[in-house]
Amino acid sequence: MTSIAEAWRAASQRIDRLDARLLVENVAGCTHADLIAHPTRPLSADLLARLDALVKRRAGGEPLAYLLRSAGFYGLEFMVTPAVLIPRPETELLVNLAVEKGRQLPAPNIVDLGTGSGVLAITLERLLPEATITAVDVCSGALEVASVNARRHTADVRFLLGDWYSPLGGERFDLIVANPPYVIDGDPHLQQNGLPFEPQTALTDGVVGGDGLACIRVIVGNAARHLRPGGWMLIEHGYDQAAAVRDLLHAAGLSDVASWLDLSGVERVSGGCLR
Ligand code: GLN
Repeated sequence: MTSIAEAWRAASQRIDRLDARLLVENVAGCTHADLIAHPTRPLSADLLARLDALVKRRAGGEPLAYLLRSAGFYGLEFMVTPAVLIPRPETELLVNLAVEKGRQLPAPNIVDLGTGSGVLAITLERLLPEATITAVDVCSGALEVASVNARRHTADVRFLLGDWYSPLGGERFDLIVANPPYVIDGDPHLQQNGLPFEPQTALTDGVVGGDGLACIRVIVGNAARHLRPGGWMLIEHGYDQAAAVRDLLHAAGLSDVASWLDLSGVERVSGGCLR
């Protein structure tokens, strides 16, 4: 019978050693400590076959997060499936900015447009316990994943199915956050690093020959109609889109327009306030 350590060693010949370890731990239901302390623990033929299938998929470029059905964001663990984008560390900037704005009000009303796995809405609910949080997504599969994540983190989030503002009627918010699709259609980046396995509608607006900003135009363009006086819109965008997004924020009638740098020093989030 193959041991967990042997299985790890064999998998490491085919994929990254850390990925191999995480897949072995996932399939065997063991921890890193078990792997070191009990290396001879056997893996049944069934589990070995399951591991082999996962290693094959990883070797084929499928993101580890989908194979583990789990991704970390802001120190929390979230379920992810191919129905949702895998959370990116740069999006934590959006959380920090939203918390900074949200803390200035006793009970802010916040909406997350295009919530996907729900990471923004759920993290904000945890960090701003007095806030009322709504999360919108056009994809019911995504909302199912987000609901699981909300339950997992006992986050009280109202989920609504629909396109951007459409399920919100005339409701106004103190804070609108969004990490929308913004990668330009046809960008070679979409063919790399596992992105082909992610929902393309979460990555790109799909406008052939466009600038990637179609969704951002809708979100920013309608922000003033859904913000309370003094309310903020904060939106993530591509590494080279900050100036264009600031123009859109100004054109939408927002003030105090600014962009903020992520940890790589890239202008990653822009925002403005309704005076
Ligand atoms: N930052 C992601 C990427 O470049 C895209 C996220 C998004 O479109 N919202 O892979």
